[in-house]
Amino acid sequence: MATKTQQLPAPETKRQFKTSDDFDDAYLKDIERRTNIWSCIQCGTCTASCESGRWTAFKIRSIIRKVVLGDLSALDDPDIWLCTTCYQCYERCPRDVRPTDVIIELRNYASARGNVSPAHRAVIKNLKETGHGVPINDQVRQQRVELGLPELPPTIFKYKDEEDSELQKMADRLFNVAPKPDPATKQAANEEDG
Ligand code: SF4
Ligand code: SF4
Repeated sequence: MATKTQQLPAPETKRQFKTSDDFDDAYLKDIERRTNIWSCIQCGTCTASCESGRWTAFKIRSIIRKVVLGDLSALDDPDIWLCTTCYQCYERCPRDVRPTDVIIELRNYASARGNVSPAHRAVIKNLKETGHGVPINDQVRQQRVELGLPELPPTIFKYKDEEDSELQKMADRLFNVAPKPDPATKQAANEEDG
């Protein structure tokens, strides 16, 4: 009886993890400063405590592992935006790793690369333009005008357009979010990397 030759999958050629030569010290500097990331023992208490991870694929333990291994794909991982910063993991971690702060620092770097979830990007846009995180709809705007109030409740942002104001400079730093990367460019860069 003729036997079928089994087709094995092609070996994985794409490098999954960065080597020490690729390691970016700047990336870890701020994480090290505010967390105890090197104390992680991968016990999983953080993931087991995570409300967000209960409903999504987000695994905080895996994110911490990626960072410890210098796997820079953590910066492009959309899951880092699923953390609600509830601090459950922070309170329960037996090694005081402070996983929530790891996520916050990761997000700082990720946003400079354009990795920001659409919902967070929308909030940032609203804050940048009006000082309000939640948009005010047209009906409320009109009612406010009819009542003799400014169309938008004033915030400190009403001073942001003053030339050279400190507030404007702060806003430029705070809301410095890179545009979403073009998928075609990203793929080309990954192929070069691989
Ligand atoms: Fe690491 Fe702390 Fe999470 Fe355990 S609970 S895996 S020690 S970060
Ligand atoms: Fe999960 Fe974030 Fe809450 Fe930690 S702070 S338990 S990662 S949602």
